[in-house]
Amino acid sequence: MSENPQRAEAIHQTLLSDVRMTIHLPHEHGLDPIRAVHDPALVRYLQGAWSEYITALGSSGHGIIDAVADTYRHPAMNDGMPAFREPPGPLGRLGYWCFDTTTPIVEGTYVAARGAVDVALTATDFVLQGCAAAYGLCRPPGHHAPVAGFGGYCYFNNAAISAHYALQRGATRVTVLDVDYHHGNGTQQIFWNRGDVQYVSLHGDPYRAYPYFCGFPDELGEGNGRNTNLNFTLSAGCNNAAYATTLQQAIDAIQKFRPDLLIVSLGVDTYCNDPLGDLGLTTDSFREQGSLVKGLGVPTVVVQEGGYDNTTIGVNVMAWLSGLMPA
Ligand SMILES: [Zn+2]
Repeated sequence: MSENPQRAEAIHQTLLSDVRMTIHLPHEHGLDPIRAVHDPALVRYLQGAWSEYITALGSSGHGIIDAVADTYRHPAMNDGMPAFREPPGPLGRLGYWCFDTTTPIVEGTYVAARGAVDVALTATDFVLQGCAAAYGLCRPPGHHAPVAGFGGYCYFNNAAISAHYALQRGATRVTVLDVDYHHGNGTQQIFWNRGDVQYVSLHGDPYRAYPYFCGFPDELGEGNGRNTNLNFTLSAGCNNAAYATTLQQAIDAIQKFRPDLLIVSLGVDTYCNDPLGDLGLTTDSFREQGSLVKGLGVPTVVVQEGGYDNTTIGVNVMAWLSGLMPA
């Protein structure tokens, strides 16, 4: 079980059947908002990755449907030595830019990743123009993608790009609240040194949960970003009441930061039956989460991250959005 197109279809169908939702198509926003957050060399790489991989394989590439690296750059390989150079060949470049085996390049990867950014930015536009809230049905998700890499099913960091974009268009302080089961290591890394973006995440303890290497409560940010990074780790089996208590702590911290815009990285892989998570939340929790966030009274952009139980993903996303709506 992993990331798959049926997830987005299931959410879309549920939203279509709810009369309170108005569906809009995304607008193209170009590459500038992406390059403002990600290393332009990563953007260039993803743009040409599939064709360079297939071209290099020649006739032996016939029938290949995805590209996954066999070697990743590991910090121990050049510990105390100069930084790695980007390799010239397509196999080396895969392992230079990607950090795990779960995030293949396929023929449509770049177009889809660009599309997900446009969805998030279109939702952000609605909120910057005065809507109280907007939801972006992004696929692929984004919160694992750092400035100069991709992984965890994520290529471009939709939430981080939206946060930076909003700051360039009048917002002065933005909070990214990440309620996906997994820690958003990419978003944390992107804003680690910044005081104008607060990153607050609730997630399965990285001692047992992907991405394993970050997401611990003592990671607070540095420099101007000191104390604007907050990680709340959750125990296996965490129930609705325990989750709400932790989310209230997160909301108290957001209130102190006084953002003028909130971006929610919404993952419903915290659901009790999710194949990638181990929490015990029911659909009621998602409604409660949306309602608690509504209490902040801050204009809110919600972007889709994870959630892998396709039979409930639509209902759970809709429950979250229902909680966020005016009573
Ligand atoms: Zn997740």
